[in-house]
Amino acid sequence: MAHKVQGVVAESRGAPVKLTTINVPDPGPGEALVRVQACGVCHTDLHYREGAINDDFPFLLGHEAAGVVESVGPDVDNVAPGDFVVLAWRAPCGTCRSCVRGRPWYCFDSHNATQPMTTADGKPLSPALGIGAFTELTLVAAGQAVKVPAEASPAAAGLIGCGIMAGLGAAVNTGGVSRGDSVAVFGCGGVGDAAIAGSKLAGAHTIIAIDIDDRKLEWAPRVRRHPHHQRPQH
Ligand SMILES: [Zn+2]
Ligand SMILES: [Zn+2]
Repeated sequence: MAHKVQGVVAESRGAPVKLTTINVPDPGPGEALVRVQACGVCHTDLHYREGAINDDFPFLLGHEAAGVVESVGPDVDNVAPGDFVVLAWRAPCGTCRSCVRGRPWYCFDSHNATQPMTTADGKPLSPALGIGAFTELTLVAAGQAVKVPAEASPAAAGLIGCGIMAGLGAAVNTGGVSRGDSVAVFGCGGVGDAAIAGSKLAGAHTIIAIDIDDRKLEWAPRVRRHPHHQRPQH
């Protein structure tokens, strides 16, 4: 059975996005259906709408989200209905060359839902970054749903799915920041602040925040002092 819900769809290059009815199937093997509670607006969604990622219109936008698992398909054991989850755009396979080398962030065979979500007239939607979360319900590979403590606020937890992961991963994984390092972070929005928090967690000694926006420079030292209690930026 498909669920008819409202979703934000980019139908063609550069055209205004539309809030429209979409069909979301019940989960099949290895899939999870998630009721979205919050989804951040990320610049990458704009890139999709502009046709700057690829031409696979129509896109279901949104990819920085948290929600509650509604139902799961057969063979799913990492999450169960009622679990509060953050959605991830990578569900590493665990068996490819990169995963085996301990670098799941370069996985060659990251999983997504197998069944397509569709427009009202049955056209398959391309979900942004394999998620598509500007909708009431979304279908993902179960491995993309990561269980987190239920007391976290959905609006804050959802940011882990893109901005925090991107910035923290840049510092800890790509940049290899370690104890005693000096780090400069250029651009102190959501991603940059997460790079500052990641550098701090990795034990950097000096962290230099660089931005042309005074308001963002005011946020940056707060990230450094309270890396475990950072509030979402508005
Ligand atoms: Zn994003
Ligand atoms: Zn892999």
